[in-house]
Amino acid sequence: MYPESYEPNPLYPRSEDFEVVRKDDQTGLGVISHKGFKTGDIVAAMNGERIQDIRQHSLQIEPGIHLYDIHFAGYFLHSCAPNVFLDMEKMLVIATRRIKPGDYLLMDYAQTEDHLFKQFACGCGAKNCRGWITGKKDLIDEEDPAYQQFISAQVMAV
Ligand SMILES: [Zn+2]
Repeated sequence: MYPESYEPNPLYPRSEDFEVVRKDDQTGLGVISHKGFKTGDIVAAMNGERIQDIRQHSLQIEPGIHLYDIHFAGYFLHSCAPNVFLDMEKMLVIATRRIKPGDYLLMDYAQTEDHLFKQFACGCGAKNCRGWITGKKDLIDEEDPAYQQFISAQVMAV
């Protein structure tokens, strides 16, 4: 999964345990676990390039420093009811609830990101779904046509 050039780490995800889906449609992307985990389990260690800008699949380590992991964690889907927590200090993915084989690994992008590469309307279906997803410190980009569409869909649903 990670290139051979990375220093060996037994916690790195093994390709038999996880499947990175890179299908080119909005909901197709993601990482499926073929292994089960209990709450609190270490799912895997992550690694990647350290970059200073925010990209589509980057994850914030601290303000101004981002992990660009295009092999594993950068492909986690967002959910407002995530099943993993990303410890960006220890570079570990931790299960926050039970994960069954075949489940997608789901993170809350606002857990790590102050600012999102792109704000979006969430379709996670969780009871506590925030609807429009931004980074922790982002203001809603009201000029964004996707946001205007999201708002008019809300109005129509009422
Ligand atoms: Zn949601």
